[in-house]
Amino acid sequence: MLFLGIDIGSTTSKAVVMDENKKIIGMEMIKAGTGTDGPERVINALFLNTQLNWEDIHTTVATGYGRMKFPKANFQVSELTCHALGTHHLLPDVHTIIDIGGQDVKVLNLDTNGNMTNFIMNDKCAAGTGRFLDVMSGILQIDINDMGKYALMAKKPLSISSTCTVFAESEVISRLSNGDDRNEIIAGICESVANRTSALAKRTNIKSAIAISGGVAKNDGVVKYLSIALNEDIKRSEYAQYAGALGAALYGIRKCSR
Ligand code: ADP
Repeated sequence: MLFLGIDIGSTTSKAVVMDENKKIIGMEMIKAGTGTDGPERVINALFLNTQLNWEDIHTTVATGYGRMKFPKANFQVSELTCHALGTHHLLPDVHTIIDIGGQDVKVLNLDTNGNMTNFIMNDKCAAGTGRFLDVMSGILQIDINDMGKYALMAKKPLSISSTCTVFAESEVISRLSNGDDRNEIIAGICESVANRTSALAKRTNIKSAIAISGGVAKNDGVVKYLSIALNEDIKRSEYAQYAGALGAALYGIRKCSR
């Protein structure tokens, strides 16, 4: 039996197929989220690579911001539940999840069985989210995938004092025109996201181990400065961006095994 989890986020669509033994059969990601053809494209890509089609799928679970707009789903489940399930499966000793996505940040506390006990979220302000990093990479004319690499090359971060994305954008432009070191500016941008996230995380009952999930988990600079701000090692799975989709597939397996 095969289970499909689809995570329709604000900026990306992720899909995972698992069998009933929780073995991953395939996974795909498309950089287009809710309100676009991203969900359809991610399923097409997944089916192409796995040689599967809809008839092979027993249960489909949708999660993420756009989960209600996916009629093929048998269940729609909140991303909090799915991120908890997915990350607990990938990293079973994790008790705190920091999920930094394209437009929001969530911090989840888990019990030893991976059940969520508490969460806090920032979905009001772009600063501290992937959106902030995307805007900054545009100004710097660098690929978002390389931002972490450049941040790690800096001797020190040049701190960004503005707490608003629009003002921070002007600050970065003026730093660039002052001739400040580019990598140090990039490190400062990553540090700014990390500091905002750690302030949010500290409003919860942080318990080790801590993991990062969501697309920003791929940014080594944010992970480094988050680790410094929280004075803790941050665990990261290679499938961190798929945690929600993976959790959705796991939810389907759980529902059908009852
Ligand atoms: P959502 O589920 O809200 O659509 P994701 O969890 O997929 O968002 O995260 C999207 C964000 O992740 C992007 O805004 C971008 O900043 C960041 N991101 C995605 N891929 C990478 C990468 N390879 N390196 C660094 N950051 C990345």
